[in-house]
Amino acid sequence: MAVKLNLSKKNFSEWWDKIVFYADLIEERFPLKGAYVWKPYGFAALKLMLKIIEKLLDETGHKETYFPIFVPASLFAKEKEFLKGFGGEVLRVTKAGHHVLDEELIVRPTSETIMYPMFALWIRSWRDLPIKIYQIVPVFRWETKMTKAMFRVREIVRFKEAHTVHATAEEARAQTEEGLQIYSKFFTELKIPFLIIKTPIWETFPGAEYNYDFITVMPDGKVLELGSVINLGQKFAKVFDIKFKDVDGKEKYVWQTCYGISERSLGAALALHGDDKGLIFASKIAPVQVIIVPILKGGNSENEKILAKVKELKENLSKNFRVECDLSDASPGEKFYHWEAKGVPIRIEVGEKELKSKEYLVALRDSGRKEKVAEKDLSSKISTFLEEIDSNLYKNAEKFVKEAIHSFTNTKNAKEELKKKKGIVKLPWCGETDCGKQMEIEVDAGALGYNEKEHATGKCAKCGKPAKWYLMFGKTY
Ligand SMILES: [Zn+2]
Repeated sequence: MAVKLNLSKKNFSEWWDKIVFYADLIEERFPLKGAYVWKPYGFAALKLMLKIIEKLLDETGHKETYFPIFVPASLFAKEKEFLKGFGGEVLRVTKAGHHVLDEELIVRPTSETIMYPMFALWIRSWRDLPIKIYQIVPVFRWETKMTKAMFRVREIVRFKEAHTVHATAEEARAQTEEGLQIYSKFFTELKIPFLIIKTPIWETFPGAEYNYDFITVMPDGKVLELGSVINLGQKFAKVFDIKFKDVDGKEKYVWQTCYGISERSLGAALALHGDDKGLIFASKIAPVQVIIVPILKGGNSENEKILAKVKELKENLSKNFRVECDLSDASPGEKFYHWEAKGVPIRIEVGEKELKSKEYLVALRDSGRKEKVAEKDLSSKISTFLEEIDSNLYKNAEKFVKEAIHSFTNTKNAKEELKKKKGIVKLPWCGETDCGKQMEIEVDAGALGYNEKEHATGKCAKCGKPAKWYLMFGKTY
């Protein structure tokens, strides 16, 4: 336990590798690149995060389902753009034992081509619509670039994909809006500041009409895509022949949407919130919200009383919070260090003095602030402290992300800024694909998208025509 981590968030990549390992979130030594073992502490956090999204989806009428992990290669290849988009990183199964399979199987990288043939069987009339389903499953994308726990992996352990089917284009548009609202609530609960951007047409999800991405900026200045909300229009409906008989008796193709998030969201929260001491968990995803540490100094009889009190407090507080006590042999200082690194938001110290006064020293993980709290007030105070920590985590992260976004009027300055500090640069843009693609080359970074609601003033940084929006650029994970 007396390990010193020497963490510095300035070197984010090293900080991340050290802390996910030390805090026991993830085991990175599994002998397969891009596949990670989730340890109980990390998996508990992941489950808490998924609970939030499940609740939001259930409340809005989405039903949970399960579809198979394999899809015959011919079915996968039906939508040509989709095949092009994912083709390079899909795993193909060709054998069962020594026997060569009659048809190659694709391991799902996402489930459009697995679910939609079933939709074609299920949907007959307008009465069968809408369909709003989701599943939370592993998906596989064989990354060739460097992998990083939670951020770039080959096995995405928990991919939440929602898929919806509608009778009209208008309903699909409205559903896209609902998807945006659900994710906005989700990331707000995780205390992650985000931008919603519309993806430029040449970067749109394969097979989609248009899509929105939720993005944020990581401590190293790289941009992280947190999730996407996609309006598929009728493209897949036509490929998979998903039709229904409408109220007017006519056969029509359906309209579809889909939206996904993954364990990346947890990674984003932890990366944005942590500091040089280690992780800091926002309250909703903290596997342990309160750690109680006994301060044992006195004689044996005193120690026993302290330990009894620690257990009593744990029992009482567990009614409202996720609580642990550290009864190990380590010194109080070592215990503080350890639980701070693991990101537990609240620490309660119980020693001889506290036992007598019935007032306990409560420490807040983010600011390090300590406050004496009477035993009877502990529960209500902890609630207040957790809210305070959550609010500070969000405010600090929001400040960081805001300061990482810079506006320019020409590509040269934008390129220099990105080279120096990364982050996001914005350039006024006329909306034309040619200009956008040319700007990508000149800025030397991919176009992320634009905020539809933020109309630009001035001229397009490329062609000089009146600008419509600000196109954003950044280096991504
Ligand atoms: Zn232009």
